[in-house]
Amino acid sequence: MSATLIDGKAFAATVREKVATHVARLKDEHGLTPGLAVVIVGDDPASHVYVRSKGKATVEAGMKSVEHRLDADTSEEALLTLVEQLNTDPSIHGILVQLPLPGHLNEDLVINAIDPAKDVDGFHISNVGLLGTGQKSMVPCTPLGCLMMLRDHHGSLSGLDAVVIGRSNIVGKPMAQLLLGDSCTVTIAHSRTKDLPEVVRRADIVVAAVGRPEMVPGDWIKPGATVIDVGINRIDAPEKGEGKTRLVGDCHFESCAEVAGAITPVPGGVGPMTIACLLANTVTACCRANSLAEPE
Ligand code: NDP
Repeated sequence: MSATLIDGKAFAATVREKVATHVARLKDEHGLTPGLAVVIVGDDPASHVYVRSKGKATVEAGMKSVEHRLDADTSEEALLTLVEQLNTDPSIHGILVQLPLPGHLNEDLVINAIDPAKDVDGFHISNVGLLGTGQKSMVPCTPLGCLMMLRDHHGSLSGLDAVVIGRSNIVGKPMAQLLLGDSCTVTIAHSRTKDLPEVVRRADIVVAAVGRPEMVPGDWIKPGATVIDVGINRIDAPEKGEGKTRLVGDCHFESCAEVAGAITPVPGGVGPMTIACLLANTVTACCRANSLAEPE
């Protein structure tokens, strides 16, 4: 491997430390405890794992964590009533509704019912619009974490060619907006992109957010490029024993790491930064709600 490993886990630990310091100051100086409410509907095991780790990290940072676990057959009306209660609860500064929701619930409707000021996932249409027009917004956690790692590695991103593979509302599109905001020349690729390998070969920065295990091989990567692998895919790992699995990204790590200048691992790259940014967004929301200076 010749690439520098971008250690998301270590970086996330420093972000979480800064968050904890800010939380302690809010408590000491203003008697405020930032509060995050996470709502989960149904029994998707992966979602429950995410929610548990978010709750644990929130408490470790000194914040209040509230979890609402609702049955899979919860009505839209009941969910909207809960969101409204959280919107008006002064002890809650951040609200996250874990996606995906069961099919009978309208995700757009539910997300857009969250008070944009408490929308720590940054998925509300107001926040999407603010981000798209370069105004102060709540920024989606996963792309924000990717941007922080890129800025940390490169310093300025100005003028770099960035290719984002994936155009989802939660990763691909906001990632592209953030890179554009940092003056990259941005290409968004997706399943209909013609000659994806050639498109990716132009990139100084590749962000892969596809959800296809090890889809991007090393020979798509421009020598020296930075590869940010957002994908989290569980695949069979017979080498570890019968029925065992392991996590891989959307990029083929070994071959990409031979060519890239820097790369994030999976696990231990983007994932930990996502949670750290969720905590940071909650503190930001608390500061804004109380007209206090925001963390940097
Ligand atoms: P979505 O399924 O919503 O979007 C996937 C995108 O990839 C789509 O835009 C799709 O294109 C595109 N795509 C699919 N197949 C191809 C292909 N063969 N070539 C090019 N593009 C393709 O996924 P998400 O954005 O929600 O998540 C992407 C990955 O990131 C997943 O592995 C997910 O688990 C992971 N993730 C990780 C997080 C973290 O914290 N690390 C947080 C969030 C997600 P089209 O639009 O044309 O269908």
